[in-house]
Amino acid sequence: MTTVTAPANFIELGLISPLLVRLIELEYHQPTPIQAQAIPSVLEGRDLIAGANTGSGKTATFALPLLQHLHAKKALKRSDDSQGNYVTGLILVPTRELAKQVADSIKSYAVHFNGAINTVAVFGGVSTNAQMLALRGGTDVLVATPGRLLDLISSNAIKLDRVETLVLDEADRMLSLGFTDEIAALLALLPKKKQTLLFSATFPEQVKTLTQELLSNPIEIQLQSADASTVVQRVFTVNKGEKTAVLVHLIKQYQWEQVLIFVNSKNSCHHLADKLAKRDVVAEVFHGDKGQGARSRVLDAFKSGELDVLIATDIAARGLDIEKLPVVINFDLPRSPSDYMHRIGRSGRAGEVGLALSLIDHEDYHHFKVIEKKNKILLERESIDGFEPSKVVSVADKPMAKPEGSGKKKRKNKVSVNGDVWLKNT
Ligand code: AMP
Repeated sequence: MTTVTAPANFIELGLISPLLVRLIELEYHQPTPIQAQAIPSVLEGRDLIAGANTGSGKTATFALPLLQHLHAKKALKRSDDSQGNYVTGLILVPTRELAKQVADSIKSYAVHFNGAINTVAVFGGVSTNAQMLALRGGTDVLVATPGRLLDLISSNAIKLDRVETLVLDEADRMLSLGFTDEIAALLALLPKKKQTLLFSATFPEQVKTLTQELLSNPIEIQLQSADASTVVQRVFTVNKGEKTAVLVHLIKQYQWEQVLIFVNSKNSCHHLADKLAKRDVVAEVFHGDKGQGARSRVLDAFKSGELDVLIATDIAARGLDIEKLPVVINFDLPRSPSDYMHRIGRSGRAGEVGLALSLIDHEDYHHFKVIEKKNKILLERESIDGFEPSKVVSVADKPMAKPEGSGKKKRKNKVSVNGDVWLKNT
């Protein structure tokens, strides 16, 4: 692990003036910890492996040095625009929304380069034609989801042999979503000599293997810590069957301008939206079965404040940046403890204070303990006036039961708690 003394402001990081001016306009008064620690080394061309809380300013950490590199390259006329399907900076991300969001951020950081650097986002769910057209003439920064990028490569719309910088964002997520083969296929097409920047919230075995294969003498930065979060977490115990009533009560009482509610399945999204509608709470749903157009429309309405309540599956849990999102609610608990951190990370971004509420009934109690243990948090169980739970479960009374079957087997949909088999929503 390399020790770095973090500069206190953006000028000391060594960024050039078109970027510094833009940062002032965006009211980035000082670098976030990851920016302060990583940007100088990334500017020097070092590889990087970083673990940081979601919302910690990761995008600028890789985007600003990348833009600075591209700017210098253009000034030296080192770019060879005659080969029309080149790409210089490649950023791989797991979801369509993230691809669009990262590309928008990069375009925004680059406004004072006066169109000299072109940034394109490619992702599935929409026609390839417009994307192929956008890639014509070469691409300085390409933000892509793996599957669509492979499609475009096989149609000869793009080649990766001149990539100079590779960014793998949310690497743990990409590998856990079954992208492993796609990532391997893409890596094989990249030149050996390049700068690689890898961001991962967690470091499972596959990420460690990738790290060894891909990075050369990287600078390592680990800022992932529950303590560093600006999200206030609270957990309310409720009676089974009363979660919807409690949710409506909270929404009406606090009149939040934006609230993102997580459930565990597409059906649950619709089911909950219908139940809220019957109680005069307007909500829209966001999940993987919605067409790309509908997904974008709903998200834009939520981001702009036109829509107050959004019910989503975990597809919304990673990387989405909703400015000043005040509240995230776990209506269903996420299966995986790391998804809990990703969900609550939608709030409290860039140092803003956010609120994350989890509603648990007695059947969720032990699973929530696992989430706490894995994430090294311990929250006081609270109840809401008028909705006090009738069945109180003491932690000491009910030891964690093992999942069904042998300890080694992967947990499927069924989880056994003290002999009662109950179905988790998927
Ligand atoms: P990210 O982790 O890249 O998704 O960034 C989360 C949010 O923080 C985005 O809204 C960024 O615009 C914002 N942000 C990034 N860096 C800074 C900074 N240094 N100062 C203020 N806001 C920032």
